[in-house]
Amino acid sequence: VTASGNASKKGILLKNSETLENAHKVKTICFDKTGTLTKGELNISKIYNYSNIEEKEILKKVASIENKSEHPIARAIVKKAQEEKIKLEDIKKFKAIPGFGVEGIALNGDKYLIGNKKLMIENNIKMNTNINNNDEHILVNQGNSILFVALNDNLIALIGVKDILKENVINVIQKLKNKNINIVMLTGDNEKTAEIIAKEIGIDKVISNVTPKEKSEQIKKLKENGLVMMCGDGINDSVSLVTADIGVSVSSGTDIAMDSSQVILMNDNLEKIDDLIEISRKTMRNIKQNLFWAFFYNICMIPIACGILQPLGITMNPMIAAFAMTISSLTVVLNTLRLKR
Ligand code: ADP
Ligand code: MG
Repeated sequence: VTASGNASKKGILLKNSETLENAHKVKTICFDKTGTLTKGELNISKIYNYSNIEEKEILKKVASIENKSEHPIARAIVKKAQEEKIKLEDIKKFKAIPGFGVEGIALNGDKYLIGNKKLMIENNIKMNTNINNNDEHILVNQGNSILFVALNDNLIALIGVKDILKENVINVIQKLKNKNINIVMLTGDNEKTAEIIAKEIGIDKVISNVTPKEKSEQIKKLKENGLVMMCGDGINDSVSLVTADIGVSVSSGTDIAMDSSQVILMNDNLEKIDDLIEISRKTMRNIKQNLFWAFFYNICMIPIACGILQPLGITMNPMIAAFAMTISSLTVVLNTLRLKR
């Protein structure tokens, strides 16, 4: 109780006490990229238009569809449309495909697919007719995530979006690595972009291009080497948050991510993960100390109170025995209260 109260004060909400028992034993921590390691406040860095539709019109359609999505990428597109004073329109149909992108039908019946390359390949979108492959490389090499925009089965545009790292993320990862914890980036984004960002942060192991289901399968595999913690924010992370031994979500994340995890970080500061591990370690040490003192007292004092040392002339007044009993409880309580500090 003291430890979880203390954790709450630090902005770490724990849904159960097992987390406190396990967090210090974690061998691997998996981080989702977008919105967890990065701020999730993306900016559009470039739009390549391969159609004869005006760029503004494309942005209007894409933003109107993305307006229904909760993904950080979607928020970036809607923000850009608002900045350009583009009025969003209603759409006929919307479907989110977690880990891939979104699908929408505009009022005039046009069908749009917006998402990663996998989404295009799965839907047999014709890409090689008009895409300039070089454009894709340029965007990726600059650390952009790429949105492919398809209209009625033809690729019409590439949108490069770029995110910035959370302020202290490099420090936090280093701190966790110093604790000999294996750090893994798990992302649905493309390989190259993921690698560039991982390198910037100092993460050596990257698993990219994975669907939500594959994310959770990767976690199952990692669990063979010890306890796994997963930290994420999106709908796409919810399965992995449940699969991991400890699921941690950031409060800026989606409701389903928070629902699927045992720990919620009330602000987005990943440093709290290090705090959680420390609190867990100190709590378990404290519990062991308490058990030691409680047993030590009782093992010594009860036999003496029973008169085991009477042959040596040592006896204990029942009043003192009762007092000693109280001291035993007090020791435990006082030792526990040290955790507050
Ligand atoms: P991460 O694991 O890094 O949080 P996601 O699994 O949420 O990434 O998404 C993987 C990829 O799917 C994104 O990089 C993006 O290309 C695409 N994607 C997901 N959601 C959307 C969306 N709402 N609009 C466009 N693309 C999306
Ligand atoms: Mg995410």
